[in-house]
Amino acid sequence: MPARRLRISVPALLVVTLAAGGLLLASASQAQVQTLSGEADRLDRPRLGGVVRNAGPIKVGRAVITPGGAVRVLLAGDEPCGLWIGGPSTLTYRVEDRFSRPLAKRNIRKATAFKPVDAEDAVTVTVSFDEALLWGWELAARVAGSTEAAPEGSPAGAPEWLAPLLDRPFYDAPHLALLAERRLGGSGPGVAHGLFHGRSFDLRLVVDPRGDRQETLFDLERIPRADSVVYQGRYYGQELAAQPIGRSWWEHSPAALVAEHQSFKIDNDQKRHVTVTTTTRVRGTGDLAGLWWAALSGEVTEDNRSFPVTVRAVEVNGRPADFLFRNDTLAVALDPPLGRDQTAEVKVVHEGDYAIRYGGDSFWSLGTWAWFPTPPFHGWLATMDFEVRVPEPLVPFVSGTTTGKESRDGFTVVKSRLDQPMQWPVVAAGKYNVYSDRQLDVAATVATYVRANERGAKRLLNNFYAATECYQKLLNVPFPFSEVEVIEINQWGFGQAPPGVIFITQEAFNSVLEETDRLFSEGINGRYLHEIAHSYWPHVPKMNSEEENWTSESFADYTSAVCLDQLAGGKGTFRFQNSLDHWRGNVKDLGDGASLYLANHLAGVNFNDFLDRQNLLYSKGPVVLHALRLELQKQAGSAAQGDRQFWSLLRSYLKSFPYKWAGTRHLVGILNQITGSDWQPWFERYVYGTEIPVVR
Ligand SMILES: [Zn+2]
Repeated sequence: MPARRLRISVPALLVVTLAAGGLLLASASQAQVQTLSGEADRLDRPRLGGVVRNAGPIKVGRAVITPGGAVRVLLAGDEPCGLWIGGPSTLTYRVEDRFSRPLAKRNIRKATAFKPVDAEDAVTVTVSFDEALLWGWELAARVAGSTEAAPEGSPAGAPEWLAPLLDRPFYDAPHLALLAERRLGGSGPGVAHGLFHGRSFDLRLVVDPRGDRQETLFDLERIPRADSVVYQGRYYGQELAAQPIGRSWWEHSPAALVAEHQSFKIDNDQKRHVTVTTTTRVRGTGDLAGLWWAALSGEVTEDNRSFPVTVRAVEVNGRPADFLFRNDTLAVALDPPLGRDQTAEVKVVHEGDYAIRYGGDSFWSLGTWAWFPTPPFHGWLATMDFEVRVPEPLVPFVSGTTTGKESRDGFTVVKSRLDQPMQWPVVAAGKYNVYSDRQLDVAATVATYVRANERGAKRLLNNFYAATECYQKLLNVPFPFSEVEVIEINQWGFGQAPPGVIFITQEAFNSVLEETDRLFSEGINGRYLHEIAHSYWPHVPKMNSEEENWTSESFADYTSAVCLDQLAGGKGTFRFQNSLDHWRGNVKDLGDGASLYLANHLAGVNFNDFLDRQNLLYSKGPVVLHALRLELQKQAGSAAQGDRQFWSLLRSYLKSFPYKWAGTRHLVGILNQITGSDWQPWFERYVYGTEIPVVR
């Protein structure tokens, strides 16, 4: 995938998980008389109030802002919501976390003209800016006692540069964090959201001490027309620096509200038109929380056209609820707010002409993007059920175990269920030929696009069961899904493995590869086995954050390479060594500052910058796993004993976190138990840090 396209599609897929932080439940009564959209408008189009006396250097997270000009109160309507800072002023940002430092240095160098300074205890960057807006209830409260009345006749509106930055950006506008914080109980430091405008740049700073417990500095860039006619002019953020607040990178906690069940009704009544009804049961995990929000794409694009998504109705516990649908995020007011272990049912009905048949294809898919209210990783551990209706002759596919299927008035209706919590379910439909088999307690279906292709389908079924048998032996747990659908996609060069479904492009079905000699030496078989391995990683031990991505991709790559080797046994065409050589070759291209754990935090402007992420997850990750295996062999004094420990690590990890959030720190914990020694330093070098292990 070309870098430019990736850069645009990533924010839409992994919509920034900015959860709530804050303090002011006391003012919730004020919030309740206002609608979310009214509040959001006032926050995103603030006015300037009175001058703040002795504003001095302002500390926000690990940023220090030294005003060179006046500082004024920022007003949402008449309510203080932050600070305005005139220029010329300076922003100094300190990156203190030791794993964040090399990454920040790399990102700042790659994405901006700023000069990072590498000192003993921090990487620092200092920039001069002309004007800044800093939103935050706590920031406003800080200066409450030292504000003069607004000067007569002074300009009262927000600066002109603000509107384009907040015109459907690929990041959260300030209102979301502030609205969430206002509806969050308990106490603690407040969230802050800053936009800094310079002569040749715009920066965004988000400090979230209670939700994600992370602070992040972004460079904001505008999408040029050459990249996308549909998205041109809209801004996206390049991450310059990110660091955890009051925690280590590997410590993650659940969101204030966690989705524990989702019930879907998907109705493709005609052509491209789809109505999706999603009922989500959310549960409180701690402090009272009165705003649930989820990613929901506001539009779907095809070539140079855009199809809008409209939210028709939102109900909470059967009653119409206040909601805000903006910037690919749906926020829903929960009134009353939910405390620990309290639940609410949030029903959302939305529709649009977005069952797109790309390039006139007889196929549409609601795939791994936010086609329904999609919670963030740490707010999503949901069992699911589905009812899908599509016009005949389209064949519907849906994640989960089929519980019913019927023909009704020219439509096919299928029902299914996922009894274990899952993330990223998919629905698809098209003109398909379907081939099925049942072995090893798994019903597998291979669907070939438009043309019948029995040979190709049979081969994929056979390979599916061969791989499944290998994984079951290797990992010692039953296959996670009772039904799997392998669906041919009418494109080239990719695969995807949402729960119970494998999307794979047409070359996997190509009969040119049928000679058994070549069968396991071709990359496509590696990709197919990689996708099948995803049934375990990350659907069994789950990701609670984007940092844990390597426990999905690198683990799928490593285990699939081992099974590819075993399945090719005797044919003499494939060896594990091939995979190892391939990974080591790619690792050589890695730039500096490349932490495996922080692979999703890389910024960049050219194609090679994106290859770094690829090379981390799909090459350095497998190399690290292999190095771990070799190290265990060395320490155990025998290859057999070391291998036993290695596989027992992977098995225990799967067994200990069945369909639950897991994570790298648990891998370290299990490894410590198995070996009786401390592996944290090893992981700090190779997984959290940027070192690359040498493997022979
Ligand atoms: Zn993958």
